[in-house]
Amino acid sequence: RELTVDLGERSYPIYIGQGILNNIAGLFEKHQLSRKSPMLVITDDEVAPLHLERVMALLREGGFAATACIVPAGEPTKSLAQLEGIVTAALEAGLDRSSAIVALGGGVVGDLAGFAAASFMRGIRFVQIPTTILAHDSSVGGKVAVNHPMAKNIIGAFHQPELVLFDIDTLLTLPSRQVKAGLSEVIKHGLIWDEAFTQWCDDNAEKLLALDPEALSYALYIGCKVKSIVVSQDERENDLRAILNLGHTIGHALEAVAGYGELLHGEAIAIGMVGAAKLAQQFGYDENIHTVTKNLFLKYGLPVSIPAHLDTGSIMNAMMHDKKFKEGTMVYIIPTEIGKVEIRKDVTVAQVRQIVELLKGES
Ligand code: NAD
Ligand code: ZN
Repeated sequence: RELTVDLGERSYPIYIGQGILNNIAGLFEKHQLSRKSPMLVITDDEVAPLHLERVMALLREGGFAATACIVPAGEPTKSLAQLEGIVTAALEAGLDRSSAIVALGGGVVGDLAGFAAASFMRGIRFVQIPTTILAHDSSVGGKVAVNHPMAKNIIGAFHQPELVLFDIDTLLTLPSRQVKAGLSEVIKHGLIWDEAFTQWCDDNAEKLLALDPEALSYALYIGCKVKSIVVSQDERENDLRAILNLGHTIGHALEAVAGYGELLHGEAIAIGMVGAAKLAQQFGYDENIHTVTKNLFLKYGLPVSIPAHLDTGSIMNAMMHDKKFKEGTMVYIIPTEIGKVEIRKDVTVAQVRQIVELLKGES
């Protein structure tokens, strides 16, 4: 499957399917990546033993001068220190303005390598080879960033890749917890935009959880497509793009309070989406939204309640630190039907606190 992220002259294709990496050299040639300039492949130390050798061999056979740079796996790697390490590797490998940086990994590697590509020599070409389901999300939209100890994704840029290669084969090594967490973001794309796809996710949970290649490439295709439609209409997040934050207000706060690792991003936003559905109920929208949302996440083995030991006050504080607050009310994404959301600007802190309390009792 192939789709285009439509951004005028910065448009780029996403190739999704089983075994497409075998044609990496052909696709690199098609998209005019240089064989003369050195190329830097960035991956992490968990993905490297699984997939790096294959990618390097295919690139070498295809005549591309690729060097690998391996960073530690995990969120703390999205740092200025690691960025400096990548720049060192890029200089040592002799990268020039015609070079490309290739990200082989999940969202962490994608964001870090993407920011390196955006900033090295004021911007060189960038290719994404996402190896997590969650990275379907980060591979569309061009947001790249590293973290500061005080704030996530605060040092960043918009830098669109030349192309994205999503090979289902690389996903087969994912731990099951990462599979579920990644599917949470896929389901989000259904909930915000596509009722039929949400139903499809409900019907095909078993296949997706078993990493059935056909089901998985369809789900990733739709997930990328929904995100790309939204992003094409609002590349710089002025308005519409905010709908992608369904479940993320509470989700981000939970991640921050639980400490990264206890709750994966996909798990935290599943809880957040159940929260948004509860809020919808309070605003008088269809009761059904909450039931459907919650049952869907339960079916995928995702959490739907806030772990009891997380303190409500701390969760609320974490939310206040998030950028979405303004004078006692906040911008909140609320589902109004399955497949439709609304951006509300009148949700009060008190209402959100109540939802957080309710989510602790959810079972
Ligand atoms: P990740 O990159 O940390 O990957 C999760 C774990 O899975 C890591 O330990 C990794 O080593 C391992 N892994 C990756 N691929 C594997 C494979 N094929 N087999 C076995 N193990 C594998 O995390 P993620 O969930 O992919 O991404 C999360 C990051 O993405 C966050 O930093 C988040 O901010 C970012 N993100 C960015 C955007 C964006 O628009 N730029 C959107 C969503 C998320
Ligand atoms: Zn997310």
